[in-house]
Amino acid sequence: MSLEIKKTILNKIKEYQKIIISRHVRPDGDCIGGTKGLKEIIQETYPEKDVYLVNSDYSEYLAFLGGEDEQFEDEFYADALVIVLDTASVDRISNKKFNLGKEVIKIDHHIDIKPYGDISWVEDWRSSLCEMIVDFYLTFKDELKLNKDGATYLYTGMVTDSGRFRHATVTGETMRLAGTLLDQGINMDWLHSNLKMEEYDYLIFKAHALQSIKITENGVAYIHVDKAMQERFNLSREDSSASISFCENIKGSLIWIAFIDNADGSIRVRLRSRFVTCNDIGESFRGGGHECACGATLYSYDEIDKLLAVADEKLKEYKGSHEGWL
Ligand code: AMP
Repeated sequence: MSLEIKKTILNKIKEYQKIIISRHVRPDGDCIGGTKGLKEIIQETYPEKDVYLVNSDYSEYLAFLGGEDEQFEDEFYADALVIVLDTASVDRISNKKFNLGKEVIKIDHHIDIKPYGDISWVEDWRSSLCEMIVDFYLTFKDELKLNKDGATYLYTGMVTDSGRFRHATVTGETMRLAGTLLDQGINMDWLHSNLKMEEYDYLIFKAHALQSIKITENGVAYIHVDKAMQERFNLSREDSSASISFCENIKGSLIWIAFIDNADGSIRVRLRSRFVTCNDIGESFRGGGHECACGATLYSYDEIDKLLAVADEKLKEYKGSHEGWL
């Protein structure tokens, strides 16, 4: 089944002269790595094709991988194939003109709640979207070409979205696919230094933020990066968002959440869990995502309390009916 879809996608790539690749808003390593990696594969294999990365936002954290293209006029899309990567639903597509393309292909590893596109290839068990792109490359490796830059982009997506290959979604195949990329000679030291190193000022914020973490009765750890904290430490959107990782390793906290005030008054929720599935919590607050990594949007501080109550109850039930959790 998936071979048929992959063949169809390859034929579409061959058919079109102009290909525009897009991704989700608030980009992460997987969607940036996936779009840049796929572009590299297409361009290396078919140098005569015109391939563009068009989106409306940007990641400072991942700027070391290089930039994307500017937006084009509407007419530019009429004869283009648009490929959208790593984006579950239309509202989260960063390129708002994606639908002007002659045909749209969706390739994703999120649960397919809101399908879109003329062709759709979704494998929600994959630890990253980049894993799918490497699988695509290997399926047609007699035909497609992968260079060191492409391998570096795709490895960035694999390593970041899998929590450095620690998540439960990581399989033997994940590691074999990653191995294919390493065979291209990726500079691991350079890549991991770029992913890991932090500004000194950021450490000062982190020290403060760690002290603000709270834990509910049954163990849900949470942090609220409100406007005041953002102003005090001059935080970018990405700085604030990264606070979810501060709550990650607290014993007994199998669910952890970051609430981040948005400029428009809404509150972004980043929800993570181990062992317990939590995407239903995200879905009941206008969001969604993976079983153990999802998001939501809230419109008042009251809703923070409501969401915490739901998460706390869920963790209570889990702990009451399971053994062996940490
Ligand atoms: P994040 O915390 O933003 O890294 O999101 C974790 C996962 O949940 C990502 O794979 C997103 O695709 C998904 N997600 C985050 N926010 C939302 C939302 N509001 N609606 C649907 N999915 C979301």
